[in-house]
This record gives sequence, C-alpha cells and structure tokens, in this order.
Amino acid sequence: MTDENPSDDDSTAEAILNRIGQAFTDRGGSWYAGEAVTQTEHALQAALQAEKSGAPSELIAAALLHDYGHLIHNFGEDCAESGIDDHHEDLGAKQLAKHFGSAVTEPIRMHVPAKRYLCAVEPGYLEDLSDASLLSLKLQGGPFTAAEAEEFIAQPHADDAVRLRRWDDQAKVVDLDTPDSSHFQKHVAAALA
Ligand code: FE
Repeated sequence: MTDENPSDDDSTAEAILNRIGQAFTDRGGSWYAGEAVTQTEHALQAALQAEKSGAPSELIAAALLHDYGHLIHNFGEDCAESGIDDHHEDLGAKQLAKHFGSAVTEPIRMHVPAKRYLCAVEPGYLEDLSDASLLSLKLQGGPFTAAEAEEFIAQPHADDAVRLRRWDDQAKVVDLDTPDSSHFQKHVAAALA
C-alpha cells in the first residue's frame, strides 16, 4: 500500500529528496481526482500560495507535500468515485514523519479535518467546494458538528492546517504558471527534521 521498500536509501537528505521527487515523477502527472490539474500542478500551486503568504519553510513543504499520500497508494486515481476514502492524509503524514517534524506532518494529516472544520464554521465554504471535493467530503465524514469543530481548532497545528486547506482549495487553476519543483527544494530541505 505504500512505497515501502527495504532497499530504499533514506540515510541522507539527498536520498529522501530524490525519493519524494521520484514519487512525483512516477505519479505526479496523474489527474488530481476529479479536477482539471495534475497532482504535480496542484502541489506546486499550493506551495506557491504558501510561499507568497510568507509561510515558514515547514508549512511551504507541507503545502507541496500535502497530497503525498495520493502518490503512494494503490487505490487508483478515481477511488473516491468508487466510494473509497484513500485516507491519503494519514498515509502521507505517516510516511513523511520518518523524515519531517510535526510542523510539516500535522498540517498534512489535518488538512482533511480542516475541510470538515471550515464547512462547520464558515458560511458559504461548503457551497464553494468543487464537485470532487464535495464527493470526498461525504466519504470523509461530512461537516464537523459545532462540538467537533471546537475540539479540532484547539489542537496544535490546527491553524496551519486551515491555512493549508485554503491553499489546497485554490490550487486547481488550469494552466497557471508556477515555478517548478526545484524552486521549492530549499524549503523541503530546510524542513527535514
Ligand atoms: Fe489537495
């Protein structure tokens, strides 16, 4: 289910960066489920917004890698349409936790709950979600109740998860010009634990 392989060399920062880069090379060209951008375009657009907003390297890396779980599972690109929740937020966070600290992995793990949170607290948020995002919301448990929302936002890194969620929602622009992944490597390298 993951890209776990005993022969994978994770002993140096360079090896880890190469491994992440390879996942984008192998799977990043696939469509971002139900949207008109690829996984790589989506990741770069999210990272660019994070950088533009002055976020620290950890959060820029989180934005770039927030859907890493989509690149390493084998449920298929359109699994939501088949009623399958791939739990990519947990999978990506778990895999990346081997190399990154909580400032990177927690916003990633929490970017799906952050959508459920925003649906509960922000009028109009749910109505603005794309069809694909609405479909996955259903599989992910739907909007939080008021009590769940309160509990969510009290957790460490919840604010960053909400920021990341907004970049995620906006990172679906067809043919947007972004820097390529090499531009963001310095942030990922700086974020390595
Ligand atoms: Fe995303």
